Amino acid sequence: MVSKNHKKIGKLTVIAGPMFSGKTGKLVALVEVFTRMGHKVLTVKPAIDSRYSKNEIYSHDHRKTPALVVDGLSPDHIIDAITQQGVDKVIFDEVQFFDKEKVLEIIRKLKKLGIHVIASGLMYDYMRKPFGATPELMGLADERLELMAVCQKCGNLARHSERVRGGKFQVDVGAADKYIAVCERCHKIYK
Ligand code: ADP
Ligand code: MG
Repeated sequence: MVSKNHKKIGKLTVIAGPMFSGKTGKLVALVEVFTRMGHKVLTVKPAIDSRYSKNEIYSHDHRKTPALVVDGLSPDHIIDAITQQGVDKVIFDEVQFFDKEKVLEIIRKLKKLGIHVIASGLMYDYMRKPFGATPELMGLADERLELMAVCQKCGNLARHSERVRGGKFQVDVGAADKYIAVCERCHKIYK
C-alpha cells in the first residue's frame, strides 16, 4: 500500500504509438495495478472518442475502465473536476483529440499540484503529420514509452496509422473500419 507519508511529486509519463499498438490496453492495466497499490486514479477521455463506449476507455481487445468524459470545458473547470476526486494519478487517453493549448495547460497545472499524469495518444495523423499535443508532451515527459503495432502490410513493426476509408479531415474517428497500422515504408496517404 502507498504510505500516508508518501511525498506527492508531480510527473508526466507519455505513452505514444499508432493505432492498435496497445496504448489503451496498457492504460487499463496501469489503472488496475495502481488501484491495487492504493493509488487513487482517474481516467479522462475526450467526448469525441465514443467508438466502443461512451463512459469508458475501451481497447480494441475489449479491456476497459470507467472514464470521466471531457468535452470543451475550460482548463480550470477540468482541473476542478479532477482535483475534487482527490486523485494522485490522472490518465488521459486519446490526448491528441484535446485542444492542444488547453491540455498542455491542464497537464502542467496537474503536475504542479503533485499529480502523476499519464498521457497517451497518437504521435502522427493519417498524413504522418504531428497530431495535437502528443509530440510536444513527448518532449516535456519525465518518462516516455513508445509502443509499436504490427504493420498489416509487411509484418514489420508499425509506427503509423493508415486511413483506408472515410473523409479527408485530420480527425475522423474510427477503428478497424477506417484504419490499419503500418510501418513508414508501407504507409500510404489516403486520397
Ligand atoms: P491502441 O489504444 O493503441 O489503439 P488497444 O490497446 O486498443 O490499442 O488495442 C491493442 C490490440 O489491438 C492488440 O492487443 C491486438 O489485439 C489488436 N490489434 C489489431 N490490429 C493490430 C496490429 N496491426 N498490431 C498489433 N495489434 C493489433
Ligand atoms: Mg486506444
